[in-house]
Amino acid sequence: MSQIYRAVAIDGPAASGKSTVAKRLAESLGLVMVNSGAMYRAVTWQVLQEGIDPENRAAVLEAMSRMRIDCGVKNNLSTIAINDRLLTIEIRSAGVNEHVSKVASIPEVRESLVAMQRDYLGEYDVVMEGRDIGSVVFPDTPFKLYISASEEVRAARRAKEGESDEVAKRDAQDSNRKASPLKVADGSIVIDSSDLTIDGTVEAAREALIKLGWKD
Ligand code: C5P
Repeated sequence: MSQIYRAVAIDGPAASGKSTVAKRLAESLGLVMVNSGAMYRAVTWQVLQEGIDPENRAAVLEAMSRMRIDCGVKNNLSTIAINDRLLTIEIRSAGVNEHVSKVASIPEVRESLVAMQRDYLGEYDVVMEGRDIGSVVFPDTPFKLYISASEEVRAARRAKEGESDEVAKRDAQDSNRKASPLKVADGSIVIDSSDLTIDGTVEAAREALIKLGWKD
């Protein structure tokens, strides 16, 4: 009989703390942490690298059709390589922050990346974080969390990390697009991390999963 893998879906706006929570849950629950945003960022980075206008859908799709995208796992974290180049810090650049929402609004881009995201579940138990994980990627998982924080708190967190990132603008684009907008998926438990420490947010997430029926 083939093994059944479990997925924890974590969605929320930029800088809500979802990556940190996902990483910590992955460690404590023995799951692979998959950062789906890194995939949209990697495609955007390659598009910019080739000098293509991210607003030009046809050109973005043509470029994407030439990309060899490899999704992997190292030390229980997802990795992403394009044309054999492993992408890490470069996909956090201001240029990528500025254009990623545009690229992520293209339905065909999403379709390809969602298929790769689902493939992880064929091999691993995962905690995946993003914008549409509970609503589109794994709508059938019972383990759905939505992590939010006030706009001020999120902007301050990004500034502290030294990143140039207009989170409010990115969230507006991500929430208002037609294809798989950011929203609270049916069945999610919402955690507001504005006034919580990292440990407090992780603890709240752990309690929420237990409430949703998670068993070690
Ligand atoms: O999570 P992160 O902030 O790195 O995501 C970067 C961008 O990728 C988001 O602003 C959004 O436009 C896009 N994204 C998405 N769907 C996901 C994850 C990220 O559209 N599941």
